[in-house]
Amino acid sequence: MAGPESNITTPPLTSKVLQLLAEQEQTPSVGVITRHVREILATHEHETEQSLALCASLLHELLGVYGNLFPASSPQRLEARLLGLRLAQHPDLGQLEQLRHHIGALADAVNKALPAAGPVAPEPFPEPGEPPAPDAPVPVETAEPPQAESPDIPTEAAAPDQEPPADGEAGGEDRRLDVAQRRQIDEKRARVQKVQETLAHQVRDVIKQNERFGALLSSEHENLLRSGDDADLRQLKQSLIAEVVTLREGHNALAKKLEMASNYLQIIETEGQYLNDELTRVHILSLTDELTELPNRRAFMRRLEDEVARVQRYGYPLSLALIDMDGFKAVNDKYGHAAGDEVLRNFSTNILSIFRHHDMVARYGGEEFAVLLPNTDKAGALRALEKVKKRNSESSYQLDGQTMPMPTFSAGISLYKPGETPGNLIERADRALYQAKRTGRNRIELAPHDAADPAPR
Ligand code: GH3
Ligand code: MG
Ligand code: MG
Repeated sequence: MAGPESNITTPPLTSKVLQLLAEQEQTPSVGVITRHVREILATHEHETEQSLALCASLLHELLGVYGNLFPASSPQRLEARLLGLRLAQHPDLGQLEQLRHHIGALADAVNKALPAAGPVAPEPFPEPGEPPAPDAPVPVETAEPPQAESPDIPTEAAAPDQEPPADGEAGGEDRRLDVAQRRQIDEKRARVQKVQETLAHQVRDVIKQNERFGALLSSEHENLLRSGDDADLRQLKQSLIAEVVTLREGHNALAKKLEMASNYLQIIETEGQYLNDELTRVHILSLTDELTELPNRRAFMRRLEDEVARVQRYGYPLSLALIDMDGFKAVNDKYGHAAGDEVLRNFSTNILSIFRHHDMVARYGGEEFAVLLPNTDKAGALRALEKVKKRNSESSYQLDGQTMPMPTFSAGISLYKPGETPGNLIERADRALYQAKRTGRNRIELAPHDAADPAPR
């Protein structure tokens, strides 16, 4: 070993030990031991210092690599640079220990940000109101008008098992909100929800990043306050001050980003609310007849299926009536379509309203109505229809200031038979209605199977 005494300055620990030994230095043998101890200690401390310096330089290299993995303006890159600066100050073991925490956090960020190979591309927040970048993972459509219906998507209106809407029926084809349109709104809602989740995740990340940023700022601030006024420290202080300024700018930029993200979230929330309202409106519209505001045939069929399922389980009676205005075409022909519409409105609002609350009255077709009477046997159904007939015969509607009598109607009633399908039940009521028409109109007929008692004329 080349004389450590000559080229190694006496480190603090060695000084302390030597001082202790000097106090005991009374005999020549102690003097020899003292020299040996001095040499051993000096070599040891020198080696320790070298290890620390090597360690710091390796960490410095590593931080350089970490920093370059992040975009230039990212806080992580700044953090890596600052930590590098701290390492350049020849930290002692205790200071290295402190830095270890920050370097570990940075390593975590690297691991998280690098699921695949390659540097992390910055993911900018779209400006509120602006569409996202074309390669953004989840597209946001804030104000997209509904697209034209694709010709290959079948709609309920065109389904083969459904009759086309009757001529002149309110809520005709052009006004009917089709399945494709509803599906589109559903998809849009799902997309907005996904964007919301992604954004929430991003915001959480930014908040975490910001916290770490804040912690780093405070620790840098403390370091600056603690540093002495020695000439060699002054330069370091200057560079640290410059770094802190950059850090603060980054911090402010981050805060702005957060604010923007929050605005963006608000927009998405509003959009989501709008979509929900729209969907509810479309849903209601798709089940409601516009002219009479009664449930339409689709709504009726759904309810019928539910009721049939219930009857099959609990076995209570269920009646169905089909009602068709008599000579309605003549009303249109004689007084005009508007007069026909008025008759239909009057019939649904003032005549059919006589049914009980849990009966379901629906507009089944043009001038045809269907009534479902749960928990009602044929006698009950007949009584109800008779009441309607009476009320209708006593009613009138207004036409150009004139009071006009309501046209009569014919009705067919069927009572649910165990095991039969909803379609069967309707078919039997329809046959009874046909019978009522055939035998003179202004009549109520029971379906053949239910006609044990003669129907009232
Ligand atoms: P019947 O006694 O045999 O039932 O004869 P009808 O004239 O009532 O029956 P038909 O089936 O011959 O004619 C029904 C008419 O109802 C034809 C159609 O234009 C008319 N109609 C259907 N929906 C509406 C509507 O929403 N408003 C108006 N004003 N008329 C309608
Ligand atoms: Mg008719
Ligand atoms: Mg008809």
